[in-house]
Amino acid sequence: MTFGKISNLFRRERPDPAEAPSHWIKCKNCQAIMYYKEVVAKLYVCPKCGLHMRISASDRIGLLADEGSFVEYDANLKAVDPIEFIDKKSYAQRLEESVKKTGRNSAAIAGECTIDGAPLQLVIFDFDFMGGSLGSVEGEKIVRAADRAIAKRQGLIIVSASGGARMQESTFSLMQMAKTSAALKKLSEAKLPYISILTDPTFGGVSASFAFLGDVIIAEPGAMIGFAGARVIKQTIGADLPEGFQSAEFLLASGLIDMVVGRDKLKTTIAQLVKYMSTVRAL
Ligand SMILES: [Zn+2]
Repeated sequence: MTFGKISNLFRRERPDPAEAPSHWIKCKNCQAIMYYKEVVAKLYVCPKCGLHMRISASDRIGLLADEGSFVEYDANLKAVDPIEFIDKKSYAQRLEESVKKTGRNSAAIAGECTIDGAPLQLVIFDFDFMGGSLGSVEGEKIVRAADRAIAKRQGLIIVSASGGARMQESTFSLMQMAKTSAALKKLSEAKLPYISILTDPTFGGVSASFAFLGDVIIAEPGAMIGFAGARVIKQTIGADLPEGFQSAEFLLASGLIDMVVGRDKLKTTIAQLVKYMSTVRAL
């Protein structure tokens, strides 16, 4: 395994309001009109209603990793088109468009960093790349991150933002659910911590595999999390769904996740949990 190149995208620390454009935006939840720089300064959380807006994968790295500590691995892994899938467009074309849009080769960014000084493996899903879907490359990156964690005796953090398995890879993408689960089982047997962070949205084969296998499962406030979408479930069971269904808070109340943590507290929470779990392991 070799060290990947450190992209310029990861050099900055928290999102810098000074670099943000000077315009006004409307919160899609409370409709408040806000100065964009103010929203950036608040880590893309609406200062009026607390809506946690979706953020880019590079901002997410800036939010969690200690400044300048993130080193990316496996950035050159690129998907192939195993079944030559075509819907409205070919898979090859969709891949090409996503690479152009995000400047990356896949929907997962994997690397090593320190979080409050603790060295960890970090995998972050990029929703802008084909809806953060899980394909063979994304699965492979998770497995390699888990293997690196075991080799270096480190914890693993995965931040999910995904519509689920990538249908364009059919069974090849479904197999990633088993493959990532098996890698996490090895991490668990090595008694190393795995913390799963669920952000808006986390669905399908991602929530049905590694996203819900964390020793601790944390969600951001208001994140929508589930397997199938609410509309599909409603049509299938022919009944109204409870209020707040599939929200992070609903899942917490139902006992499916461990914590709902605001974006401003996410980094310190992860650092505390890793420290705690490392202490327990040492006893
Ligand atoms: Zn708002």
